[in-house]
Amino acid sequence: MRRTGWRACLVAALATAVLAVTGCAARNNRNDLAWDVVARHDMVRSQIEARGIADERVIDAMLKVERHRFVPKALEKLAYQDHPLPIGEGQTISQPYIVALMTDRLALRPTDRVLEIGTGSGYQAAILSLIVDEVYTIEIVEPLADSSAALLDRLGYKNVHVRHGDGFLGWPETAPFDAIIVTCAPPTVPEPLIAQLAEDGRLIVPLGDDFQVLTLYRKSAGVLTQEEIAPVLFVPMKGLIENR
Ligand code: SAH
Repeated sequence: MRRTGWRACLVAALATAVLAVTGCAARNNRNDLAWDVVARHDMVRSQIEARGIADERVIDAMLKVERHRFVPKALEKLAYQDHPLPIGEGQTISQPYIVALMTDRLALRPTDRVLEIGTGSGYQAAILSLIVDEVYTIEIVEPLADSSAALLDRLGYKNVHVRHGDGFLGWPETAPFDAIIVTCAPPTVPEPLIAQLAEDGRLIVPLGDDFQVLTLYRKSAGVLTQEEIAPVLFVPMKGLIENR
């Protein structure tokens, strides 16, 4: 009896040890392979859903796009925090919540063609590309246009078309657009962008100089209506707009 009891104890101890080891292995795998998955879930839950963004397609895209790939390597562990980050050339990748808010307010449909002014890192374009058919994006700083085009291609975002140029002029050859998103701040909306907005189209833009207001325009029967959404802070729009 005593020997059986001893053996039972040994078996129980071994079983506990095996469970502990396999449990550890599972935890380690999760930590090793998926720190960014965990960070993205936390970001979406605490920064985006908690602030009222509920559109499933926006949430799905924010969960899928690997934001840490769009920031400099040295900053990758900060990519899911609640603020913008520098991306070089004096420019920034927007705060995740602002990306989600602007995308949400555009009320995108899967068949939409979207124009973005200010490609920057390419992150906003990647988010859009998971929601709509075609994304056209223009960046005035050539090295940023080149690096984000290469990155988007490498990551498989094949429906994003990147152009180096002044977004003031829009992309007339592929207009009209169902939605236009401006991610740099002009003092007034460039007229070519209004002209390139389709009937029933939406245009979102941080409008202003030192103080900016995120503003949503809708074109209906050729008439624009305007809705102010939130105070924001973006880098200023450069190029032709500066001469206006
Ligand atoms: N959407 C970007 C962040 C944009 S930062 C992202 O997801 O990372 C603003 C960008 O607008 C900068 O890269 C800046 O160079 C660009 N920009 C400024 N003026 C512009 C213009 N006239 N045309 C196109 N891009 C412009």
